[in-house]
Amino acid sequence: MAEVVSTDVLIVGAGIAGLWLNARLRRAGYSTVLVENATLGGGQSLKSQGIIHGGTKYALHGALTGASEAIADMPRRWREALAGDGELDLSPVRLLSSAHYLWSPGTLAGNLTSFFASKAVRGRVDAVKGEQLPPALQHPKFKGKVYRLAELVVDTPSLIARLAELGAGSLLRGDQVTALHEGGDLVGLAVDGRNIRAQRIVLSAGGGTAHLLAALGVKEPAMQRRPLHMVLAKGTALKPLYAHCLGGGPKPRVTVTTHPAADGQWVWYLGGDIAEGDAVGRTPEQQIAAAQRELADLMPWLDQSGLHWATLRVDRAEPAQSGLVRPDNAFLADQGRLLVGWPTKLALAPDFSDRVFAALERDHIRPQPHPALPALPAPALGQAPWETLLP
Ligand SMILES: Cc1cc2nc3c(=O)[nH]c(=O)nc-3n(C[C@H](O)[C@H](O)[C@H](O)COP(=O)(O)OP(=O)(O)OC[C@H]3O[C@@H](n4cnc5c(N)ncnc54)[C@H](O)[C@@H]3O)c2cc1C
Repeated sequence: MAEVVSTDVLIVGAGIAGLWLNARLRRAGYSTVLVENATLGGGQSLKSQGIIHGGTKYALHGALTGASEAIADMPRRWREALAGDGELDLSPVRLLSSAHYLWSPGTLAGNLTSFFASKAVRGRVDAVKGEQLPPALQHPKFKGKVYRLAELVVDTPSLIARLAELGAGSLLRGDQVTALHEGGDLVGLAVDGRNIRAQRIVLSAGGGTAHLLAALGVKEPAMQRRPLHMVLAKGTALKPLYAHCLGGGPKPRVTVTTHPAADGQWVWYLGGDIAEGDAVGRTPEQQIAAAQRELADLMPWLDQSGLHWATLRVDRAEPAQSGLVRPDNAFLADQGRLLVGWPTKLALAPDFSDRVFAALERDHIRPQPHPALPALPAPALGQAPWETLLP
């Protein structure tokens, strides 16, 4: 006989979306089970750059509208949680930088000055110079302008570890997920021989969501993948830098974040335009060579000779784009008991959980008494790419 478990909310997929939601639901008194078929955070979340965007990057391209407000509020939500007095107590999580920078090399600076003086961004950005510059840019040969954004960068491994701690007892390592029907209605999921009944089921499985939907015989919502070819560099010559370096196009030419490796050295993680489009078709060697040229152009003073390099191919998973979907909000679709979505950004995990709470509120789903959960086999923590890909 299958073991029968009952809970209020059953979540599948323990990346940032599932883990954040799970911790918030438990804090609000709901009983939950969170199923993961690989490692905690090991999908996109631990491969992200950890930037808690506030939307200024979008404002740059004239796209800061009313719809940007969900993302505009995210740095505050995270800051409160990191201080231990927000919706979750994330005080043990390491904050890597309390600011992210916009860096405009050379000629773009003139345009930017008027942009930054405009109403759309007033109060969100400050120009910085001299000793206020990020350490990696403090060099006599540095040219260009740098603006400080009130956005954070978090250490994703300590974030995932803390959320796992807040979810202890509810985390279930499970491979086979199938639908549990009763009288034609979906009432839960069968996970590796356990029948888990729930008032609501949330799929937050990132790139695995399309497959799960197919397994449950559900067609909507459609998902899309955006492939990236990221670059990592490690070495003693690197100093901390958290910046979007602007080019002429709609995306930053390169986005640099800096992460502490377990051996104490800094790792630069390079994304933005350099990781998209043509980059996806390059071999790792070609991609590393392209990154080396880009850094030599932008930071000619940087001694690249002792650096170790690696690349990482990873897809962003998102709802298929339509006129209705905006990139600066989390996405959630609901069909009866089943809620399906993607935060679309690490930063938007609070917004994703708001949308689930709003659906529970609307349907009057309240915590109910359940027998205590049995001891569940827990999934392991995932590892950051800078620990596994570099010497
Ligand atoms: C290179 C890169 C850089 C990024 N940088 C940033 C950034 O700086 N700031 C930002 O805000 N966003 C960033 N993002 C976006 C952000 O990482 C994602 O939007 C976010 O992590 C998605 O979280 P998630 O929980 O939906 O998915 P994931 O983290 O992918 O988690 C989904 C989980 O579901 C599990 N799963 C899949 N299928 C199943 C199944 N059948 N059963 C059980 N479990 C399953 C997976 O193993 C995984 O653990 C970046 C993304 C990438 C790829």
